[in-house]
Amino acid sequence: MPVFSKILIANRGEIALRVQRACREMGIATVAVHSTADADAMHVRLADESVCIGPPAARDSYLNMPALISAALITGAEAVHPGYGFLSENADFAEMVEAHGLAFIGPSPTHIRMMGDKITAKTTMADLGVPLVPGSDGEVPDVEAAKRVAAEIGCPVLIKAAAGGGGRGMKVARTLEEVEEAFRTARAEAGAAFGNNAVYIEKYLDRPRHVELQVLGDNHGNVVHFGERDCSLQRRHQKLLEEAGSPGITREERDRLGEIATAALTKFGYRNAGTLEFLYQDGQFAFIEMNTRLQVEHPVTEMVTGVDLVREQIRIAAGETLGYGQADISFNGHAIECRITAEDPETFAPSPGKVEVFHAPGGLGVRLDSAIYAGYRVPSHYDSLVAKLIVHGRSRAEAIARMRRALEEFALSGIRTTIPLHLRILDDPGFRSGEYTIHWLENFVARR
Ligand code: ADP
Repeated sequence: MPVFSKILIANRGEIALRVQRACREMGIATVAVHSTADADAMHVRLADESVCIGPPAARDSYLNMPALISAALITGAEAVHPGYGFLSENADFAEMVEAHGLAFIGPSPTHIRMMGDKITAKTTMADLGVPLVPGSDGEVPDVEAAKRVAAEIGCPVLIKAAAGGGGRGMKVARTLEEVEEAFRTARAEAGAAFGNNAVYIEKYLDRPRHVELQVLGDNHGNVVHFGERDCSLQRRHQKLLEEAGSPGITREERDRLGEIATAALTKFGYRNAGTLEFLYQDGQFAFIEMNTRLQVEHPVTEMVTGVDLVREQIRIAAGETLGYGQADISFNGHAIECRITAEDPETFAPSPGKVEVFHAPGGLGVRLDSAIYAGYRVPSHYDSLVAKLIVHGRSRAEAIARMRRALEEFALSGIRTTIPLHLRILDDPGFRSGEYTIHWLENFVARR
């Protein structure tokens, strides 16, 4: 007997398809939801059933909670998988799902809410023994307090929105003189973007790596980690290429971080999938935030551990125990993911439109998570991600060579994509050395 008979997938694009694949392998029927702009989408075509939930604008469709709940109830779904983005970290939605007798495939609404406020997330993790980036003790209410904190920890500092996400609502102050303006702008941006103008301050690290740890917890007190991903290659705080493991940390460091994180989350009582994000510099890890959902870059972890994380999420939501411990998780080889977006590779201007030719790369160690096809029209209403190309190799060098080969094999025309940029990154000695920080990609792009 499958753990659920039917799951509604409250998302679109490649992640909706990704979740469907796990469901199908588990013998679970799927319900796709779609906006009117997505009637022809692959996630709709491949699902067992589909429900139109509204017009193209996300707020009227993929963010429309009553429409999603109605779709689940009408189709007799037993659980809802939120994917990433949209409502995946919306505690009210998780609560609404549970209030209607459905299982939410994710953490408890309380934990989503706590980690959704980065100030609460930091104080909670500090209490649980997780090291933090030095900064203000909670919210910074006014300019005077901001200047005091900046003087104490020393510039440069970063002023961040408590409700921030997607790199928005962050402002650097390089000197004390810049604090006032950075504080006011960050606060105004946070209020406008998130309806919450609370901000806090962190030391701005000059050359950190972004290293994050994948965890899973069940409802029975078991928490394990699946190692780290290096997501330092970012442009405007958006990740472009991810690796597992990180070329910048040792196995001993991974184990140490894993022990601290799993001990903290066991005490916390965390359930389902989550990611703890850290900055790593001079041999020190410092927690910045936790994401209470499946992440875009989860496949690199799957490639090196051989574990289907979505399947695990579904089992956990059904109340099953993990059934294995930390010692059963092993790390094999190296994986890289390239996020291919429908954007101009030089200017990053969006490039929606009709896909003319589509030929997917293949062969040993190559995985493509994508929902596009020849003749598909990439809509302009949503995220520009069109494909995640993931490769696995026995070593990092093998993975790089394989990714190069797979990108060259990828035939995609009609829209512009970031494939040429990915190829240039892979050929760059700075990337190849593995010694890059979160600032590397911005400099690389500016060099052109
Ligand atoms: P968001 O939720 O908006 O993605 P994060 O707190 O995860 O915000 O930060 C996004 C990115 O910003 C990080 O991956 C890192 O590149 C950069 N960043 C965040 N905090 C700091 C810091 N204290 N010093 C330097 N860079 C930082």
